[in-house]
Parts: sequence; C-alpha cells; structure tokens
Amino acid sequence: MVGLWGIAEKMIAGRWIAGEGISDALEVSEKLNRRNVGAVINYLGEDLRDSEKISKACNKYMLLISDISKAGINASIAVKPTQLGLTLGYKTASANYGKIVSAARRKKIFVWMDMEESRYTDLSIKLYLERVKSKNTGICIQSYLRRSEDDAAKLLLSGATIRLVKGAYREPPEIAFAQRKDATRNFSRIMGLLFRKSERFMVATHDRQLISRAISMSGKSDARVSFGMLNGIMNDYAYRLAEKHDVQLYLPFGEEWVSYGYRRMRELRNSVLIAKSLLPSQH
Ligand SMILES: Cc1cc2nc3c(=O)[nH]c(=O)nc-3n(C[C@H](O)[C@H](O)[C@H](O)COP(=O)(O)OP(=O)(O)OC[C@H]3O[C@@H](n4cnc5c(N)ncnc54)[C@H](O)[C@@H]3O)c2cc1C
Repeated sequence: MVGLWGIAEKMIAGRWIAGEGISDALEVSEKLNRRNVGAVINYLGEDLRDSEKISKACNKYMLLISDISKAGINASIAVKPTQLGLTLGYKTASANYGKIVSAARRKKIFVWMDMEESRYTDLSIKLYLERVKSKNTGICIQSYLRRSEDDAAKLLLSGATIRLVKGAYREPPEIAFAQRKDATRNFSRIMGLLFRKSERFMVATHDRQLISRAISMSGKSDARVSFGMLNGIMNDYAYRLAEKHDVQLYLPFGEEWVSYGYRRMRELRNSVLIAKSLLPSQH
C-alpha cells in the first residue's frame, strides 16, 4: 500500500519527471516544444551492474531515438555512463555509448553524457573523447569540482561540446568546493572560458545571476549558447527566456523515479527549489 509519504514523493517526483514510458516523455516534450523549448530526455537509471538491465537501458535509448525522429520532436537525449555499464567495465560502456551515438547521428539527434560522482570523471571523459569526433555528442562538466576548469580547457582543445552545471553529488572537500558560492565562482570562470574558446555550449543552471551574466556575455560573442534547466523547477521563466534564447529542459522518464526524486530533494535541502517548484505556475 502506498502511504502518505509515498503519495507525497510521487507528487514531488511527478513535477520533475515526465512519467514512466517513452510516450510520456514525448508528450511532455511536445508541450515544451509548443513553448519553443527543447527537451533533453533521460531514461532514469544509474549504477547498473546487471547486464540485462544495461541492455534494457540501451534498447530503450535506441527506441527513444527512433521515436523522437519519427515524431519530429525538438529533443536530445542524456545518458549516464554507469547506466551504459561503466561499473561493469569500460569496454561495455564504450560499446554501448558508441552504438547510441551512431544511431542518434543517423537521425540527427544530439547525445549528452551526464556526469556522475567524481570516481567516474576520468573514465567518463575518456569515453566521451573516443566519440568527440561524432559532433553530435556533448559532455557535462561540474563546476564544484576543483579539476573542472582544467578538464574543460583540455576538452575544448579536442572540440568538445560542454554542458556546464554546478554538480549534484556529495564530494569530499579535497576535490570539490564545499561552499556553493565557490562552486558558483568557478562556474563563472569556466563559463568565461567557454565564451572565449567554444563555439557552442550549454549553461545549465537555475541561478538567475549566472543566467543574466551568460546573456550579457552572449551579446558580445558568436558562440551558440543554450540554457538548460531541470523540468518542473522554473518552467515559466524558461518559457520567457525561450522567446529570445535557445532553452532546453532536462526531462527524465522511467520507472526509477524514486531515486531521482530523492536526489533532487537531498541536493536542494534548503527547500528553495522544492518549495518554489510546488507552487502553482507564476507568470
Ligand atoms: C540541464 C541540466 C543538466 C544537469 N546535469 C547534471 C549532471 O549531468 N551531473 C550533475 O552532477 N548535475 C547535473 N545537473 C544538476 C546541477 O548540477 C545542480 O545540482 C542543479 O542544477 C541545481 O543547481 P543550480 O545551478 O540551479 O544552482 P543552485 O545553487 O542550486 O541554485 C541557485 C539559486 O537559484 C535560485 N533558484 C534555484 N531554484 C529556483 C527556483 N525554483 N525558483 C527561483 N529561484 C531559484 C536560488 O536562489 C538558488 O539559491 C543538471 C542540471 C541541469 C539544469
């Protein structure tokens, strides 16, 4: 029986997540597209160690690619290295990522590689660099990691497309900025680097000051900047931003919604995001 907490969890998660199936993700994407907003669709799941589950996730992405293409929706996809088998072994993840990127390239669909805990950063970058020449794939970089400015600089030398975020996992202070303000400062620094050295990238944050800074920098730059936000956090703001800029909302779907919901709740413990995202839409 689903208790009150279960119902509350589902309400909260339901605000962020499209639903359980591909058709749910496509339906919400179409709604976003009608507001001139693109979707970055992620099939929920991570740290998979069972080869059947890994194959299931890959097959789901192959179907998703084909369905996005058939429906003519403005959407990219986002995969997690440990969902493609990185915990089992590098070769498995590399083969799966390669298969997805190739299928997506045939359909002109972009594939984002999400970034997970720091123990996977090196291998994720390695995986990405193997496919960087495909041009239809980009990688997420987390500004809370002290190493990220160097990573971004190296990646850009290889022609990488970067999605910049603050970072969502718990990391030790030796390798990550413990204070949000330091992660924010580093975000600004890396964003400056992107404006100088990158032709296209995504600024993925709900931090209005960072977004404003990016908007003013984009006025003086030829770079193609897109703005990424999580679905269900501040969609009305995203719709307004989309009147003048390229905006894409990260839209997860799948059966594993509980763990995603928990992460959003945990990382946003100050409740600002949760409280605001539960309020009725503000125009
Ligand atoms: C498109 C996208 C992809 C992502 N991919 C990854 C990934 O691959 N790996 C990863 O580790 N993380 C990822 N994240 C999550 C990210 O790392 C952050 O955990 C998450 O975005 C919250 O950080 P923030 O940059 O929005 O800033 P925060 O510092 O959390 O928030 C900034 C400030 O913005 C304001 N604000 C925030 N929310 C609201 C609101 N609802 N209404 C009004 N004001 C608000 C508040 O004043 C808040 O203090 C992704 C995020 C996005 C948007």
